Amino acid sequence: MEKNEMVRWLREERAARLEELYRLADETRRRNVGDEVHLRGLIEISNCCVRDCAYCGLRAGHRALTRYRMNAEEILGCVRQATDYGYGTVVLQSGEDYGIATEPMAELIRRVKSETELAVTLSFGERPDEDLVRWRAAGADRYLLRFETSDAKLYSQIHPPRAAPSDRIAILRRLGELGYEVGSGVMIGIPGQTYESLAEDIELFRTLDLDMIGVGPYLPHPNTPLGRSPADFLAPESDQVPNTEEMTYKVLALTRLACPRANIPSTTALATLNTAGGRELGLRRGANVVMPNLTPSKYRALYEIYPGKACIAETAERCQACLRQRILSMGRKVGSGPGGSAKRRPAPAISTA
Ligand code: SAH
Repeated sequence: MEKNEMVRWLREERAARLEELYRLADETRRRNVGDEVHLRGLIEISNCCVRDCAYCGLRAGHRALTRYRMNAEEILGCVRQATDYGYGTVVLQSGEDYGIATEPMAELIRRVKSETELAVTLSFGERPDEDLVRWRAAGADRYLLRFETSDAKLYSQIHPPRAAPSDRIAILRRLGELGYEVGSGVMIGIPGQTYESLAEDIELFRTLDLDMIGVGPYLPHPNTPLGRSPADFLAPESDQVPNTEEMTYKVLALTRLACPRANIPSTTALATLNTAGGRELGLRRGANVVMPNLTPSKYRALYEIYPGKACIAETAERCQACLRQRILSMGRKVGSGPGGSAKRRPAPAISTA
């Protein structure tokens, strides 16, 4: 699909036309990655962060936030829960936290890989090359790093550089070379994001040939520059992408069409906009993955990248039961095993059932 056509879809408001787009995305999902919905157990291992991203509640400048970092035993406790619940993957995520040191994390990865069958996904921000090399050698399978926007000017406005200017695209390419399955993605409706640039984001998903793509609505956090004064960032009204539920479905559907075999989650940010049915609608409009939260209750509320996160008060036990039930009642299957990239295996047989 050409960029202009993508922009037209992003601007489309007629419900009947959008239903066509969603139907096509759902059919593409079914043919390419099948009916299984893979569960990735998310463990938010630290909310400490050295960066100052203008939208994120974990930013270093948010001094009022109580910080935590889980120790290895706590993390391994969550990993055991993941196996008990039948998940095939754990995702370890954090702020960019150099208190998560290279070798202790490598040791933890080796333990998870030797004691379980789980795939291990890391999402620790822009870590130095040496860390990425060592963790891959320790057995980490996948790495998630959203590029957030392909618009270089907007990117630099909302990501103050640390030492050198960051180049997430270069890191993503490097992760691929190291043999990781590579995930990236963007927020939808960040102040300053235009329809053009969002269409270019989706084109970049395809160019990067990603294994995993996470897209979710931007949700303002009041203790951040972007949450406090969005007007300083907004694009002209007719160009600014809204951070709505509908826009999220459009992007999910277009992403599935652009990258038919990618693993695409129906995100918590989307469920936050519609707690009743957002996850399911995401799964019906392109997504094939969900990420139940395994973070211990005492830390959950502190991993506040945006406020009002869906299911914040739920236990890990209830999250898994609820998601399983939702998947089955949609007539889909719960995935088994690690559910790795479909790009690396033959396409599933088309079922007519
Ligand atoms: N430190 C890691 C993990 C960040 S949290 C990293 O930088 O990759 C994971 C994702 O949450 C981010 O990539 C971002 O896209 C999303 N996020 C952060 N703040 C958000 C907000 N206010 N609204 C919606 N999504 C947000």
